[in-house]
Amino acid sequence: MDYKKIANLLYPEVTTTPEEIFARYPKRNLKESQVVSRFAPSPTGYMHIGNFFQMFISYNLTRVSDGVFFLRVEDTDSKREKEQAKEVVFEILNKFGIKFDEYQTLEGKDIGAYGPYVQSQRTEIYKVFAKKLVAEGKAFPCFCKKTEGKEDVLKLRENKFQEDDEKEYDPCRDLSYEEVKAHIDNGEPFAIRLKTKNTGKERVKFYDLIKGEIEAKANAKDFVILKNDGIPPYAFAHAIDDTLMGTTIVVRGEDYIGSTPMHIELFDALGFKPTTYCHNPLICKIGDNGNKRKISKRYDPEADMRFYFEKGYLTRSVLEYLLNIINSGFEMWRANNPEKDWCEFKFGINDITAVSPIFDLVKLNDISKNLISRLSGEELYQNWLAWAEEYNKFLAEYLVANKNFAVSMLKIDRECEKPRKDIFNMSMIEEYFSYMLKKPNLDEVCEQDREKFNEFMEAYEQAFIFPSSNEEWFNLVKEVAGQLGYATDNKAYKANPEAYKGNVAKACEFVRIAITGRKNSPTLFEIIKVLGEKEVKERIKVKA
Ligand code: GLU
Repeated sequence: MDYKKIANLLYPEVTTTPEEIFARYPKRNLKESQVVSRFAPSPTGYMHIGNFFQMFISYNLTRVSDGVFFLRVEDTDSKREKEQAKEVVFEILNKFGIKFDEYQTLEGKDIGAYGPYVQSQRTEIYKVFAKKLVAEGKAFPCFCKKTEGKEDVLKLRENKFQEDDEKEYDPCRDLSYEEVKAHIDNGEPFAIRLKTKNTGKERVKFYDLIKGEIEAKANAKDFVILKNDGIPPYAFAHAIDDTLMGTTIVVRGEDYIGSTPMHIELFDALGFKPTTYCHNPLICKIGDNGNKRKISKRYDPEADMRFYFEKGYLTRSVLEYLLNIINSGFEMWRANNPEKDWCEFKFGINDITAVSPIFDLVKLNDISKNLISRLSGEELYQNWLAWAEEYNKFLAEYLVANKNFAVSMLKIDRECEKPRKDIFNMSMIEEYFSYMLKKPNLDEVCEQDREKFNEFMEAYEQAFIFPSSNEEWFNLVKEVAGQLGYATDNKAYKANPEAYKGNVAKACEFVRIAITGRKNSPTLFEIIKVLGEKEVKERIKVKA
């Protein structure tokens, strides 16, 4: 059969040769150890944490090897394409300080010599290779959609791929030149399918950098490589782009393992050197039925990267949490190097987890508490203000107008040897320090000890002198407590609690409640200092 004639019939306008395309994409001049990897999101208008996780693995592999990290926008699925979706990708990665070596700017300028970095601008290239495969008899036009009269049959078939399917040869695979010509003359649209060499009995082996050697049934389907609108599905674009762009490690979710045999067959048919895969495990959650399930935007707010901005996590906390679940060596490294920037961590491919991690917000919060506890009052203020400017304008105005007070407040139990570790994101600070920003409500806290509270506070107010040290503050509470019949010695109290109204700790608690409305708070003397004499005097003049 004259396949070349068929190819020319299908694509008379495509005159560029694969060699000419290759000449535009010279081999990268890098050492073997330098990894070239990419982030290839399909822009959907939001970013799933799973995509971010995968991006972060690629990024780290290129970062530690002094390689090349590029962004390729996979916008071939026009149904999923959303307005401003590319902006979202840039906005999120910018906030995380993740930079690409090569990408296309929002204005459409390619930075790097391996573009265009947006798939919808690469359709000419895909056609050149589809034409080549048809000319070699390795692919063929399929007119089924029209002739079978079924809705979207091309797509349905492709999605049906399963491990134990037998071969699935398409009825159009052996159309003669005359038959093809009749369809074309009839104006029928066509897709291009790969003519599989396999019969359904073969198996393929491939090596995955995380999972090791994987053996699977070889592809035995004539799958679509170019849809009837000239746009390639993922597989074909992946094989061509990752080859031309010189990707050395393809990091992608392990949900792609099932279709890897198709990809291997494509690389082979195209005459390309197979690529190296690194299929990362997917982040999971434990579902209501107790089983592991993929973290999903539908059920889990934390699946959407916007969650972390809205809550006001430090981007560093999120990155460190992800490093923690990606790489078993990170936690130990962080414990041994509390001061170092995470970028100094030597990220190795052999330490990447092969097991699906369970997303754990408590762990993220712990990591975040630690990092935030190391910030100075001024640094925390800047982070809080930046968050408020975006999510709480009213608060932002207050913070600007009251900067000195806010910084002193944030300094409480901070910038010291053992800083408090309560705060894990910016959105919680206002509530956490609510008693600093307005007078507390005492109703709930004084429920049981109302009388004793009132009696103690009255005496304390009378005796109050604004303290100049923690010791002075404590001594006065102790003195007033002693006069009212509280034990000032804990041993004596323990030996005979009935003899006293309570112990000094109880008295301290009353003062704490009067000033903060809470039974627990950061160091009270620090709070007193920041609130100042006038405010403290007003607060201790209370009756519950
Ligand atoms: N566009 C694909 C996705 O978002 C990319 C997968 C890959 O990295 O190869 O799933």
